[in-house]
Formats: sequence, C-alpha cells, structure tokens
Amino acid sequence: MDEDLVKLVKEHTFGTWKVQKTWNPLNVDKAEGVYFYANGKKILDFSSQLVNVNLGYGNKEVIKSIEDQLENLQYISPAFATEVRARAVKSLLEVMPSNLTKFFFSTSGTEANEAAIKIARFYKSPSYKILSRYRSYHGSTLGSLALTGDYRRWYAEPNVAPGVVKIPEPYCYRCPFKLKYPECNLACVNYVDYVIKNEGNVAGVIVEPITGTNGVIVPPKEYLPTLRKITRENDVLLITDEVMTGWGRVGEWFAVNLWGVQPDILTTAKGASASYVPIGITAVSKEIADFFEDKMFAHGHTFEAHPVSLSAIPAVIEEYKRMNLLAHVKAMGSYLGERLKELKERHKSIGDVRGVGLFWAIEFVKDEKQTPFGTYEDKYEGRVTEVDILAKKLLDEGVYVFNGPSWLVISPPLIIKKEEIDEGIEKLDEKIKYLDEKFSS
Ligand code: PLP
Repeated sequence: MDEDLVKLVKEHTFGTWKVQKTWNPLNVDKAEGVYFYANGKKILDFSSQLVNVNLGYGNKEVIKSIEDQLENLQYISPAFATEVRARAVKSLLEVMPSNLTKFFFSTSGTEANEAAIKIARFYKSPSYKILSRYRSYHGSTLGSLALTGDYRRWYAEPNVAPGVVKIPEPYCYRCPFKLKYPECNLACVNYVDYVIKNEGNVAGVIVEPITGTNGVIVPPKEYLPTLRKITRENDVLLITDEVMTGWGRVGEWFAVNLWGVQPDILTTAKGASASYVPIGITAVSKEIADFFEDKMFAHGHTFEAHPVSLSAIPAVIEEYKRMNLLAHVKAMGSYLGERLKELKERHKSIGDVRGVGLFWAIEFVKDEKQTPFGTYEDKYEGRVTEVDILAKKLLDEGVYVFNGPSWLVISPPLIIKKEEIDEGIEKLDEKIKYLDEKFSS
C-alpha cells in the first residue's frame, strides 16, 4: 500500500509552494513526543513542523478535550453561544495582553490576518493603507499575501489586494540601510514615522514581533516599543502577527510581552491548538471592540468559532501551566542558544546565529563578504539552494529542519529535553561540514 499511497497523494493533491514534479513526499504514519516516523524511519522534529506543533505529538489532555467536544457537540452555527466558546474565551483572557478583550475565531493564520486587515480598515475608515515589512510572511490569500513581503507575494502580483505599503525590517545582520546598531539610531523604525506622514491614509502597521520564516530576525530591544510610540503618535493601529511567535515559542505567552508592548490587534494560530485542530484568532482592543457596537461587523465564515477547534484552546493553556512550559522554554532556549553559538565557532559557513526561547535561525554564508547560499530569487525561480540540500541531508540523517534559501529555522517542540537538543546539535555539527566545504576564503 505504501507506494500506492504516496502515488495517490502526489498525483491527486497539490504539494504547496512547489513545482509539482519536484515534490517527493515521504509517508508519515505516526508521531510521538518530539519524533515522527517517515517511511518507517524515526525523525527528530527540530522545527515543530512549520513552527506549530508546540506541544509535540500525542498530548493526551488536548486529544481528550477534542474527543469530548466531538462527543458533545460537533458543529453549530457561529451565531449561537456555546460552552466551549465561553471556556476558550475565559482561558484566552488569562494569557492575552490585557488590553485585548474581544476575539474573532477562524481556522488559520492567513484568515486571522485577513480579518485583522478588514477590522483595521473598518475602524480607521477612510484611512485604508497598511504598512508591512519586506521580510515577512502573513499568509497565502490575496489580502494576507499583499502584506507578505517575501518572494511568495511575487507569484500573485499584480492581483494581490491594493493598499499595502512596504517598510524595511530590523535585520541588523544585513541592515537595509547598511548601518550598524546602535549607531544607526534605529533608522529602520524611525523611517516608519516618515512613511506614515508622507503616505497619508495609513490605517495600520503589521509586523511579526520576531520575523519567523524569513530567518528569525530578532529586533533590537528599542524597536517594538519605538514602533508602538510612532503608531500612537500618528494615530495608526499596531497589529502584531504572532502566528509563529505566540504560545510560548519565545518563553512568554506572546512575543510582545518581551518588550511590554500592547498592540491594538494581535493575530495568532498554529500553537493556539498545538496544531491538533485548525484555529486562527484575531484579538482586538476594547476600543476597537466598542466601535462595532453600533456598526456592522461585516465578516465571518461557516467554520468560524468551530466547537472542535475551540475545544483545544483551554486544554492547551492548562497543559502549558501544568508543565510550567514557559520556564522550561526559557531554560531549554538558553541551552539551545549556547549550543548553536558553539556551532558558529566551529563552522566557517555559519554567518549568524540568532534567536530567543526555542526560536532560532542559523544563517549560512559562502564567503567572508556574507554572500548568502541562496536568495528569494532562487526560491522564486524554483532553484534548489545549498541550504535546501543541507536540510535534505539532515532529514536523511534523522533530523527534520525547516529552511529558507540561506538559513535553517531551529524551533523544536517546546517540550524538548536537553538530550534531544544534543541529538539534533550533533547531527547539525556533522552535516554542516557540507557547507563549510563550499565556503571560499
Ligand atoms: N503569519 C505568520 C507569521 C506565519 O508564519 C504564517 C504561517 O507560517 C501565517 C501568518 C499564515 O498562517 P497559516 O499558514 O496558518 O495560514
């Protein structure tokens, strides 16, 4: 059956973000803890798949909560109130930034961001422009893709939603202004003030507090508080996309907590259900919520506030508390960070190692001038980069790592133990030699 199974999947379903004939999926039939089994082989999940399987595989409490809900009430129109919706809200209010008091539930990060854009535009009408960064990913539909900065937007242009203006990112390793921190005086964020004032009609700014798929870019400590100040002074909304950074990934419930920033809208998904069921959440401030008291909330889906999706949320939050997971992430995160920095000392092809909590990137370079091994253009044209090859070698060796054109994202399930981190690091240490050999001095 195995071969037929892969053939059926490959021939009759799409492999996404891929030239179809290059897609060769492995057959995964089980998973437990921080491991999954592909073509029968045990693989350490060193990226939590797409940075989303935060509780690892097989968490009994979350499974039970979903099963109980399925027994009890499988579906009801979102127009009705349900006990599970009340429980989800109660538990969310405990962990969300305290100013965010009303939620819209969807089924993905993409939809959470689509809702955020519409809400921002209704609230700030007639202002409509949204600023977002080049190095960003916010989703795959025409609105969220317009927000997206990376090459994945290019395929859909010019048909992405209008009204999005791009701003630079706080990428100190490759500063868009070719400046050095702190002498730069945060040119990247101060430029946002200039853009808002000169664009006119700006409704909001959306950022990933720590850029995710585009290379785990951790901003300087002043960045987000300054952006908050600039957006407030200009009467523009701050929207933080915590689809990846939320749910303990950085050792806090949400990454905005690292800097004590309260956004006007926060979007999240992935870890909210530990990815056992699809969920997206758009959380808004009381001011925004109040605005809709006398106005149409002109948005919604059939699967919105789906009882089965919602049933995961309180169970996930309880599991984080029971396991004291935020403290565990802080401890394991500093251990992982130290081990990755040791790798940097040993491998000349590692240009930069950066991260917080259990959210890290290794960025590779092929010479002392920091030339990357692959670019957005390579990905856009469907070219295989040397870092793609490294990721494949790691998979063959039993470690799954999600990668960009020139970096690996190291973001294991938050339940990972020291010895499992060591296992991943040892294999990285061995396989990175492949890129060291390609480094030209
Ligand atoms: N926003 C960010 C920061 C993401 O990383 C992603 C997905 O990786 C999305 C939005 C889109 O989420 P989804 O794939 O659930 O639609």
